[in-house]
Amino acid sequence: MQFNSLNHTHMDQLRAMVDSDRFSAGESVLDLHARDQSSHPPHRPEAVIWPTSPTEVAEILKYANTHLIPITGWGSGSSLEGNPIPLKGGLVLDFSRMNRILEIRDEDFQADVEPGVVYQDLNQKLKHTGLFFPPDPGARATLGGMIANNASGTRTIYYGSTKDYVLKLSVALVNGEIIELGTRASKTSSGYDLIRLFVGSEGTLGVVVGATVRLAGLPVEFSAAIVNFPSIDQAGRAVFETMRGGLNPATLELLGPECIELMNREAGLELDVLPTVFMEFHGSTTRQLAEILGLAKDICTETGCRDFRPGLGRSERDRIFQARHDLGEMIIRSHPECHVKIMDVAVPITAYSELIDAINQETAGTNLKTYYISHAGNGNVHLNILCPKGDQRQWQQVEAIVDRLVAKSLTVGGTATGEHGIGLGKRKFMVAEHGASLEWMKQIKTMFDPNGILNPGKIFP
Ligand SMILES: Cc1cc2nc3c(=O)[nH]c(=O)nc-3n(C[C@H](O)[C@H](O)[C@H](O)COP(=O)(O)OP(=O)(O)OC[C@H]3O[C@@H](n4cnc5c(N)ncnc54)[C@H](O)[C@@H]3O)c2cc1C
Repeated sequence: MQFNSLNHTHMDQLRAMVDSDRFSAGESVLDLHARDQSSHPPHRPEAVIWPTSPTEVAEILKYANTHLIPITGWGSGSSLEGNPIPLKGGLVLDFSRMNRILEIRDEDFQADVEPGVVYQDLNQKLKHTGLFFPPDPGARATLGGMIANNASGTRTIYYGSTKDYVLKLSVALVNGEIIELGTRASKTSSGYDLIRLFVGSEGTLGVVVGATVRLAGLPVEFSAAIVNFPSIDQAGRAVFETMRGGLNPATLELLGPECIELMNREAGLELDVLPTVFMEFHGSTTRQLAEILGLAKDICTETGCRDFRPGLGRSERDRIFQARHDLGEMIIRSHPECHVKIMDVAVPITAYSELIDAINQETAGTNLKTYYISHAGNGNVHLNILCPKGDQRQWQQVEAIVDRLVAKSLTVGGTATGEHGIGLGKRKFMVAEHGASLEWMKQIKTMFDPNGILNPGKIFP
């Protein structure tokens, strides 16, 4: 598709559609909207607009569609796969000024939000209600960005991912229409599930201008344990057995020893530097949780754990789990001289050990610095591989390793991306993962966005 660059007339007409301080083509603004948190090369938009209402977004979309101007949504820019990089220039819509929590209906477990609301701010506001919005990607992300990427996090195993929390969506389309999807009822069997179509579509089908999200009750009681093992394989086995045992953990994370070393250094922890499983259980009574923790201990002992540390007090638990939460940013911060390639495959839990074997084989004897971080209960593995900036040869080696591990994951019934989305980096796996159904995805894209102006260059190979 041939797009138009923004000329003076476009700039003047777009500027006139919003208050003058909400349109910018300034150098630093364009730079700030040229890259996300991934290692994908930056690409600047030609202008940035901060919309403040759904109708404004709809009018801008209609204008961009008429004039064949690419348009890309922007939440916090915390994506890890180049998802919001405006690859073809054009306009970026930055939602940071559409950040109002419009209504909280605590008795219905629901909140109405604008797309620029940051999920931590929503949870802060919800504190007094005893409710919270569970999906938690770790970075400071917006609801619009989380919906577009179908974000998840450390408690997805228990609470689900963003798609499980969207009851209603308002979406602005390229023809200037705003459509309302879904219902405030907690269940429905009515018609096609267009919400699920838009969640995870990375802003390629329409622009989210509002949402009603489901909330969950804060757990009455919780218990946590830190368990270390002589090897990743044994830790992986314990994860599998915990799942098979039906213990229903709220968190089941597996970190390699290099992560523990970094967390000890950066967060002042004193954990043994070994492969470590972080587990958490939520429930209604301490007695129930003590029983579950006892069963978890049996499983971990049978699978050869070195140390099972249960019953962490609230403050120690918070300190350790906060360090886990901050780990992604710690890695980036600690290696400013390196690019970080983040693998994001997910496999059925029965294939988890096989994936660990494949990772061990790929990395053995390579001298590559890696961090093994896994939302293990979901079979979702991030292998963060570091590569000095500018070392093209090593970057190719890293890419080849990740390509082979993705291929392996697909062979065992998994996916190229458990949570970061396709963006730029995973487009090459779409044919292998989706086969003929990719053609149907393309037809859906053409139906909603016939000129291809929405976040062009993403998802499709
Ligand atoms: C340290 C770190 C840890 C992370 N850990 C996790 C994790 O555990 N799990 C996880 O899932 N992710 C994780 N992420 C990735 C990231 O935080 C999520 O993908 C998040 O959902 C991105 O939200 P955002 O607001 O930054 O969106 P952006 O990055 O700005 O945008 C994301 C996508 O949404 C589109 N978009 C934005 N707003 C709209 C809108 N209103 N309508 C339509 N499209 C829109 C953009 O065009 C883009 O395609 C992590 C990131 C970092 C930096």
